[in-house]
Amino acid sequence: MKSDTLHKSKKEAETLKQPLVFIDGKFYPKSEAKVSVFDHGLLYGDGVFEGIRSYNCLVFKLKEHLVRLYESAHTLLLNIPLTKEASAKAIIETLRVNHLRDSYVRVIVTRGTGDLGLDPRKCKKPTIIIIADKIVLYPESLYKNGMDIITVPTVRNLPEAVNPSIKSLNYLNNILAKIEAVNSGYQEALMLNADGYVVECTGDNIFIVKNGILQTPPTYLGALKGITRQAIMDLAVRNDIPRQEQVLTRHDLFNADEAFLTGTAAEVIPVVKIDGRVIGDGKPGKMTQKLMSAFRDSTKKDGVKYTV
Ligand code: PMP
Repeated sequence: MKSDTLHKSKKEAETLKQPLVFIDGKFYPKSEAKVSVFDHGLLYGDGVFEGIRSYNCLVFKLKEHLVRLYESAHTLLLNIPLTKEASAKAIIETLRVNHLRDSYVRVIVTRGTGDLGLDPRKCKKPTIIIIADKIVLYPESLYKNGMDIITVPTVRNLPEAVNPSIKSLNYLNNILAKIEAVNSGYQEALMLNADGYVVECTGDNIFIVKNGILQTPPTYLGALKGITRQAIMDLAVRNDIPRQEQVLTRHDLFNADEAFLTGTAAEVIPVVKIDGRVIGDGKPGKMTQKLMSAFRDSTKKDGVKYTV
């Protein structure tokens, strides 16, 4: 065999081993999964996305993620050229072709290819990308012992400016906060809004427990309407845990009995220290542990089934 033929077949074999990425209706090996440099998702962060989990061949809260994706797109006047049903099928197909039973799926819809101007009307067709991969945000020890987080100077985007309820590709607000936390030696940042009220962390919603009541800030203060946040609120109802949306200050957090964060990637993660103040007895609280385990159970039962 000639060396260039050998080289070619080796390359082909390597390509065959790669994960497959869905772009606009077709699957491409990871190394060939590319979009235009003129895509406004890249040029301007003009687009929306979702992060979705599958657990043992069950896609968790698929409908809820699709509703949020389409609502975010609707607000941006971005017409996703697939029905929700077709998007659900494409997500499941991406999991199937990659033989993934447990996965983190990223669905991205960008404004599409345009020119160097901002005008979205120049982008004729949105780009739809689906990547199925794995994600590990934090080490297991943090789930056992809890996190230590810090408030950062960057405040959450104003709902009147870039509304945090839109899950857009424009994540610089969160990235700046993350950088500030990391620069100070912390893994996660607590973000306040411009009025100083607690809103959320860079990629997770926040909860506290006070006198047996589960509390989380209302999203109108400037937080994303987290799917995991809602799942926890629903589990609280099912487990007879009183829960409420409550405007919270840092003082409320410092004097909480328990605290934890929720998100698709992080799931439910206890918080034991905020800005140097120990929360409760400094260990993951009883209600937090109960909800962590109820959440893990629900991921094993609830979801849209698929086969690999
Ligand atoms: N807040 C922000 C800013 C997020 O990006 C996310 C998602 N990573 C969350 C909260 C949690 O939302 P969900 O539970 O839907 O993943």
